[in-house]
Amino acid sequence: MQTDELASRIRNGERRALARAITLVESGRADHRVQARALLDALTATPGQALRLGLSGTPGVGKSTFIESFGILLTGMGHKVAVLAVDPSSARSGGSILGDKTRMERLSRDPAAFIRPSPSQSALGGVARRTREAVSLCEAAGFDIVLIETVGVGQSETMVAEMTDLFILLMAPAGGDELQGVKRGIMEMADLILVNKADGDLKPAAERTRADYAGALRLLRRRPQDPEGFPKAMCVSALEEAGLERAWDEMQQLALWRREQGHFDTRRAEQARYWFGEEVRRGLLARLERDAAARARMAALGDQVARGDLSVARATSEMLETLGITS
Ligand code: GDP
Repeated sequence: MQTDELASRIRNGERRALARAITLVESGRADHRVQARALLDALTATPGQALRLGLSGTPGVGKSTFIESFGILLTGMGHKVAVLAVDPSSARSGGSILGDKTRMERLSRDPAAFIRPSPSQSALGGVARRTREAVSLCEAAGFDIVLIETVGVGQSETMVAEMTDLFILLMAPAGGDELQGVKRGIMEMADLILVNKADGDLKPAAERTRADYAGALRLLRRRPQDPEGFPKAMCVSALEEAGLERAWDEMQQLALWRREQGHFDTRRAEQARYWFGEEVRRGLLARLERDAAARARMAALGDQVARGDLSVARATSEMLETLGITS
């Protein structure tokens, strides 16, 4: 299919065309890359205005259950919801936990929803790029809410936060009064902490956990992009579909405030700059990996450095000169 035709089908909201285009951006083949780029160029001429939501949480915290309930709530309000996933485990195993077909059964049957499992790629950086491009495709197809899910491990969260407007952390009720070893960096990324499973016997523990997080969030420096009272911690039950509307109200309130204050566009501009830098760095590394002569030179210089015959500084500048970069 010609790029123009694929682009117009995507703009018409044809899900099969969208799925096909995402497969194209996920492909590592050079000719597919060329087509993908042409397609993205054709589509970004009319950018979509979706709200991009990042959602993270450790396995078992209830992410799929939450996305299913929350997604159905949103489509019920007339929204079109796309769900994408960044799953670092798929980079290692080649198969994706987040791609499990049995997840989100109701939402996957909802005509106003589109669910795409995580691509299996060799490197997280590659997954991130493809997810980011998939976001543009979903927006072009008319999805006004794009939710990007990731498991709560290290770098994948930072990447998701760098491609979304709001970042939501899903947590489980803690047994005692200890916070669940959440790293400060992740707390700082969160716009909303949702303590899930606030139902039945777990309700009191969920409320205590919420209060703990609320306290911890208050200790963080107030960010200029936040109105009074944010970031917030709230209780929800994905299973009983409780608290989800309130959580959505808070997300909208925060997004609206940021739009009005100009933080929303500033952040997107910063993100675009960040990804541009990342792509250039990746491109340079890829060139190094492809170039056999450069790799051999690097190995030889590495040997000299290891033997102590050459300083790291000298070897680096020689290597960069080999690559045509003068430092
Ligand atoms: P994920 O690994 O983060 O995607 O978690 P799942 O959505 O697969 O949920 C893990 C387990 O927690 C499942 O057995 C769910 O039924 C359960 N669960 C999810 N949400 C809730 C909730 O709100 N309340 C309770 N009690 N259980 C939940």
